[in-house]
Amino acid sequence: MPWWASLKMRGFAVIKQSIESLPQSVCALCGSGGALVQAGISDPDRNLDGTWSFQRCANADCGVFWLDPAPPPHELWKAYTTYHPHTRKISGRFGKTMLSLVHRFIKLGLLPVWFLNGLKKEATYLRFMTLADEPVGKLLDVGCGGGRFLKRMQRRGWQVEGTDFVEEAVKEVTSRYGIKTYAGDLPDCAIEENSFDVITMSQVIEHLYDPKATLQACWRLLKPGGLLVMTTPNVKSIAASEFGASWRGWEAPRHLHLFSVDTLQRQTEQAGFKVTDARTYTADAAGVYRVSRDIQNGGASSWLDEIKGLCMGYRKELHEYRVQAEQPNTGQNVLIRARKP
Ligand SMILES: [Zn+2]
Repeated sequence: MPWWASLKMRGFAVIKQSIESLPQSVCALCGSGGALVQAGISDPDRNLDGTWSFQRCANADCGVFWLDPAPPPHELWKAYTTYHPHTRKISGRFGKTMLSLVHRFIKLGLLPVWFLNGLKKEATYLRFMTLADEPVGKLLDVGCGGGRFLKRMQRRGWQVEGTDFVEEAVKEVTSRYGIKTYAGDLPDCAIEENSFDVITMSQVIEHLYDPKATLQACWRLLKPGGLLVMTTPNVKSIAASEFGASWRGWEAPRHLHLFSVDTLQRQTEQAGFKVTDARTYTADAAGVYRVSRDIQNGGASSWLDEIKGLCMGYRKELHEYRVQAEQPNTGQNVLIRARKP
């Protein structure tokens, strides 16, 4: 843990770390210019100094959102020094206990049978990256992190391998679970072509400088008929419109490219895939709403405020799920399933 994180945990005011960011005037995927869609985005972890913007590509055949300015590759490590995806920092034992109790109460009692079981089914579907009913085979998880998903799939009979940028992370996955791993950017990993039945990328493509090159690499590494499954934050989600610069999904400066259903489907098809399912989902959106509210309010002020945020998050998750029937593709995350012909 870096020294400033330790001070922060003890309640000291902390000087934020600076990170170099360079203007990005054109789309890295197609070379077109863009238009500003959101300015004034801060690091949601509040460790990095500065604000960032997103531009939308003006090319109608592309339309991706990109971070502007963006840290150059040699600076990016600073953005991940204290990055703990999908976890919260809650101070005080009493606050933690209360929050945990309320959390359980909501899950067990208040979510009306998890909205008639639809949200629960969706959460289970995504927990296995949509693969629970697929025939088992050889699976590569790109951006495997600590390897929990790979272990879960291995237990179900899949033959699994993983890649990640962070060399220490993949070494740990190999030593802990005995799973074969590769360190680095997928297009640079020495992996045999036409060798996987499935490639998964859960919340990964938005972190890449060159999503196009990674999609092309996925196409090369999959066997003919192989399946690519991806999830990523949805820039056209209800939460993105509601929270503006405070939406957690911007995640500046770690998210370098962002997508909607249409834009990610187009990129996937341009890489040679046949897209079989392109839509959004809401499961586990409560946490994103909660953190977005904290960003908007400048951080949760007390455990009571944390609990208010928790209740708000679940209320909005239910609302978002319900709205999908009339306004499809406005859920928290994009899901793409695509086959290599
Ligand atoms: Zn573009």
